[in-house]
Amino acid sequence: MSTIEKFNAHVMGSYGRYDLVIDKGEGNFATDENGKRYIDFGSGIGTNSLGYADKDWADAVCKQVRTLQHTSNYYYTKVQAEFAEKLAKLTGMKNMFFCNSGAEANECAIKIARKYSFDKYGQGRHNIITLVNSFHGRTMATLSATGQDAFHNYFFPFVEGFIYAEANNVEDLKAKLDDTVCAVMIEYVQGEGGVVPLDKDYVDAVYELCGQKDVLVITDEVQTGVGRTGKFLAGQNFDKTADIVTLAKGIAGGLPMGVCLAGEKCAETLTPGTHGSTFGGNPIACAGGLAVLKKVENKTFLIDVAEKGTYIKQKLLKIDEVESVTGMGLMIGIKLKTKKAGDIVKAALDEGLLLLTAKEKVRLLPPLNISYEEIDKGLKILERLLK
Ligand SMILES: *Cc1c(COP(=O)(O)O)cnc(C)c1O
Repeated sequence: MSTIEKFNAHVMGSYGRYDLVIDKGEGNFATDENGKRYIDFGSGIGTNSLGYADKDWADAVCKQVRTLQHTSNYYYTKVQAEFAEKLAKLTGMKNMFFCNSGAEANECAIKIARKYSFDKYGQGRHNIITLVNSFHGRTMATLSATGQDAFHNYFFPFVEGFIYAEANNVEDLKAKLDDTVCAVMIEYVQGEGGVVPLDKDYVDAVYELCGQKDVLVITDEVQTGVGRTGKFLAGQNFDKTADIVTLAKGIAGGLPMGVCLAGEKCAETLTPGTHGSTFGGNPIACAGGLAVLKKVENKTFLIDVAEKGTYIKQKLLKIDEVESVTGMGLMIGIKLKTKKAGDIVKAALDEGLLLLTAKEKVRLLPPLNISYEEIDKGLKILERLLK
């Protein structure tokens, strides 16, 4: 039986998968079962932020595996403390909670926002405004928070307390920001929604209006965070610091980790017994995360990310078939004139290039440390496919 047959015989069909078995990876190349190599413009889904098996990352992770793979959150570990210290410094946030995924980080954010408001104002101020076309995860609460009707099916009843406002529409936000609201949750660049950045004026208005009413701003930086947009947090592109920030995807270089960070206002909201996660802050994930942070904190690293993003954008815009290019840094959406994104992604597999889609667009989330040579190689293939 082939790997794919064996897999499909026993694994649920919740994903539409490509007929590709990835066997190993090195640098920015993945290799399939038959030894064929692929340039990776997707890096998982922006998870393998340093590509495959980056030496410093792999050394740190392997060392941690042999030292201490896990202990319960009843105890302290050194690697968690070091990771937390560095992440707080890079984000300017005060306290954090460790979990294992983006959805969990958002669950934590939702709980903090509601408890912050409950502690201060009592019941009835539990609603959270999220944006139409957003994506916040697949758990019941984060699915409910996700502002796309396509996700609100089958699993009724959904979690109450989410109000959807139209992105970049200040009047709509004003109308919905009533006394029942404790937080507004945004993605600076809607990733799954099609790599659509928010307008600067809109972001300014969100912070201004929320500030006036002691409504918390939650920024879901699960996809935009950890250098993806050319700043450590995408909020830094807008000169903004949120009350709560969530991270996951690229944070630990491909190991499962989520983090919910809180600023001064709600840093102490979660008290003993109010939240937890057995695996949260797993030392191996933290060791991987620390290795990522040590690279990304290098000033030139983030400047490089931004420059590579601009370079790719400029090259893409020269292709006839490209209608427009959106995004920030190495988070890039490509709208095509006549061709279907899904068809291009499939055709790219044959040519040895891994791509992603987001809605009707081709999406690129290459490793942050991808070289110009590899970018050129991948773009050459893409250009050929778009001819
Ligand atoms: C991927 C993503 C999530 C969900 O993360 P998981 O790790 O799959 O739970 C949440 N928010 C945003 C913005 C994402 O891109």
